[in-house]
Amino acid sequence: MRDRRFGKTQRQLSVFSLGTMRFASAEAARAVIESAIARGLNHIETAPAYGASERYIGQALRPLLSEGLSIDSGLRESGLRHQLTLTSKLTPTLRGDQVEPAIRQSLAQLGVTYIDGLAIHGINTDEHLRWAIAEMLPALAVARDKGLIRHIGFSTHGPLPVIEAAIATEAFSFVNLHYNFFFQRNAPAIAQAHCQDMGIFIISPADKAGMLYSPPDRLKALCTPYDPLLLNYRWLLSDPRITTLSIGPATASELDWPLQVADDDGPLSEGEQQAILRLEQAQLSVLGRDRCAQCHQCLPCPETINIPEVLRLRNLAVAYDMKAFGQYRYGMFENAGHWFPGRRGDRCTDCGDCLPRCPEQLDIPTLLRDTHQRLRGKQRRRLWEEP
Ligand code: SF4
Ligand code: SF4
Repeated sequence: MRDRRFGKTQRQLSVFSLGTMRFASAEAARAVIESAIARGLNHIETAPAYGASERYIGQALRPLLSEGLSIDSGLRESGLRHQLTLTSKLTPTLRGDQVEPAIRQSLAQLGVTYIDGLAIHGINTDEHLRWAIAEMLPALAVARDKGLIRHIGFSTHGPLPVIEAAIATEAFSFVNLHYNFFFQRNAPAIAQAHCQDMGIFIISPADKAGMLYSPPDRLKALCTPYDPLLLNYRWLLSDPRITTLSIGPATASELDWPLQVADDDGPLSEGEQQAILRLEQAQLSVLGRDRCAQCHQCLPCPETINIPEVLRLRNLAVAYDMKAFGQYRYGMFENAGHWFPGRRGDRCTDCGDCLPRCPEQLDIPTLLRDTHQRLRGKQRRRLWEEP
């Protein structure tokens, strides 16, 4: 397992991090955590919002920590706690006086005396950022001074300008965000975070990147001889600015597939570069003049349709046959609040406001309706809000 410096936190993190929102029981959590640590993962990421996750982690870690085990048979520092980086998160809704009690609650659940990384969970809007600055950052600084937490970061599913504004505060040491081959909108935020020497944690580069654990045949054919999931991981790991990628296994065996590339974080090989080029060319040739370039210049839409994201899902469905993924994400519009903002394509009233702003001169209303026809399906909520 390769590791990388997590920006100004100075922590060395494994290039894969353990996401913990899918544990079905304490036993399943223990099996996954023990297997992950044995394979060299040294970063565990959780949140009180993930149900029993913190408690399960605490139950799994307690015997390991008391035994004084160490990763890599003690080749580096001795003592597992010192080698592990634990990150938890608090939503940007807490008042300042609620922050320390919430951290102490997490400490109790996790069974540790400090949390390495405390992220504000989901700075998705300007209001969240203002609240975080006014209420939470001062309280988090106090908690850091008391030794309860070591580093302050934020996670986000928000629009690029919100992420850029949060990074620009220079108040954070790390950021958890979406970015992958199939979603490159946040590239400027990656560059900005790197300039500030922030640790960069990539959220869900398997599921939210495109349900890549069950790729359609067309995507598989374009990536051949590479596996689409592993190619996406390699595309990310070939970028030295990125520290670590989250994986969220429900069972220990689900670690096997991703970790095939855990030691492979160098530049893309010639063959991998050609596969990436095939993917890029397929978008151009299959979508032709209907390809949305993801410039976001069409916004705002008076009906608050998330035009670029609707058309990104169309790009993927048409070019790579990623229809199941498109249906999964399209079904979240109007069902996931600020975690996945904007309305569906069929809300278009043909007002025409967006048309002169599109440099690609796309027939946006027609493409939105076409996307709705292709991708409408079951309405979805977010994973950790599902009953
Ligand atoms: S034409 Fe449709 S998509 Fe474009 S701005 Fe008007 S309502 Fe929004
Ligand atoms: S302006 Fe056109 S190309 Fe750019 S994101 Fe909007 S629809 Fe896509």
